[in-house]
Amino acid sequence: SLKQLTDNSLVKNSSFINGNWLKSSATFDVVNPFNNSVLTQVADINPSDVEKAVIAAKNVQLAWQNTTANERSEYLKKWANLLTENLEDLALLLTLEQGKPLAEARGEIKYGISYIEWFSEEAKRVYGDTMPALSNSQQIIVTKQPVGVVAAITPWNFPNAMITRKAAAALAAGCCFIVKPSELTPLSALAMAELSLQAGIPNGVFNVVVGTNAKAIGEVLTTHPDIAKFSFTGSTAVGKLLTKQAASTVKRVSMELGGNAPFIVFDDADLEAAATGLIAAKFRNAGQTCVCANRIYLAESIKQPFLEIFTEKLKQLKQGNGLEDVQLGPLINKAAIDKVSTLVNNAISQGATLHYLGEASATGYPATILTNCTNSMEIAQNEIFGPVATIFTFTNEQEVIKQANDTEYGLAAYFYSQNINRIMHTANQLKFGMIGINEGIISNAAAPFGGVKQSGYGREGSHYGLDDYLEVKYLCLGNL
Ligand code: ADP
Repeated sequence: SLKQLTDNSLVKNSSFINGNWLKSSATFDVVNPFNNSVLTQVADINPSDVEKAVIAAKNVQLAWQNTTANERSEYLKKWANLLTENLEDLALLLTLEQGKPLAEARGEIKYGISYIEWFSEEAKRVYGDTMPALSNSQQIIVTKQPVGVVAAITPWNFPNAMITRKAAAALAAGCCFIVKPSELTPLSALAMAELSLQAGIPNGVFNVVVGTNAKAIGEVLTTHPDIAKFSFTGSTAVGKLLTKQAASTVKRVSMELGGNAPFIVFDDADLEAAATGLIAAKFRNAGQTCVCANRIYLAESIKQPFLEIFTEKLKQLKQGNGLEDVQLGPLINKAAIDKVSTLVNNAISQGATLHYLGEASATGYPATILTNCTNSMEIAQNEIFGPVATIFTFTNEQEVIKQANDTEYGLAAYFYSQNINRIMHTANQLKFGMIGINEGIISNAAAPFGGVKQSGYGREGSHYGLDDYLEVKYLCLGNL
């Protein structure tokens, strides 16, 4: 329970606007997905109060963008340090509201902090440009300026890191920030708000609005004229809707949407490494990540030996309460379990074979391997978002690349091979924003995270991550 936290002041129960906790008469329950027990109640913001956050951010925007890069860097460092000092509590809170194993929750908090640290450094490197002019009487100077107030909506699968990836970049660039976390996991976001307060980040620079009326809150955040930029991580369906809404005021938009990652094992792959990589790419967060392997293509000639190694490794994973020694937590809720069950049942009725089925608690989904899958199955064209590995086979390199690209998504892709020609050939042809080559875990603060096609646009992390929050401004000096 929440009583296990060392510092209970990290448990906050209402929206954080302009440095204050905003009460409301209505509340909603935050539930532990492992046993469905109510952890606490959180004030449900009245959508008409969301504008208060916009006004607060707008009022401090000019002062924030006029701080020096070094000052913003210092604020971010303090925030990162406080998150580090409270790592155990933050991880516990995350497991309690989200369900992932505690070791993974610790990993997420560290990963989340790494973005704050990264952008605390990048803040100082917003370089401009000079260009040779076409006339000697002119000089061209290019500078970069913050876009202005940024609003974001984030999902429940990474309640900490999906916020820091956006917020740290925005704050570093000089943008004030408002986030609506998922109503399923508001506590991690509110704990981060408390620590932003302790870090001395000025009131109104970082705001969190929590509530169950996502549609109405989203409407304010995507249409308010005082918001310059909108950034979203979540499903493609909701992302399309929000992009449309943001068009009404021509906001800058970043979209990190769904994925349908292929994971290809060629006949020359290191099978042991590939199986280890697949366990990580498929089963992290019980399969609930947008970069999870969704379609596993095995060269026909290595199918049997690979499946043996992979199944052996999968048998070692225990499903259960994230606070205990398990590697797979529950799924986020009943709807998520029902969705995965339906995909699996339909695949079996369409000819897939149940190769392995693990054990699971009532709120978890058993680790599953399905063989004989085909691209036309529903399970191959949808994000599974659960611990189900779907196996396809291939005999021809060109054919498997074509199949891997046969999806409307384009976020992550993975493949294993020891042949440099094949590696370059395949990497160049896969239509995805990120490619793991002999690697199953690819996301880190130094690298640009993002997708192509209907997986969205914009990049988070790396020096590209600041671009999403900066405008290019061209100065033309004449009559020199
Ligand atoms: P997921 O599959 O991760 O739940 P969603 O896209 O449903 O993906 O949710 C991601 C975020 O989008 C959550 O914070 C959720 O509250 C929010 N959301 C869902 N529907 C809407 C909507 N119609 N307008 C604005 N935000 C929404």
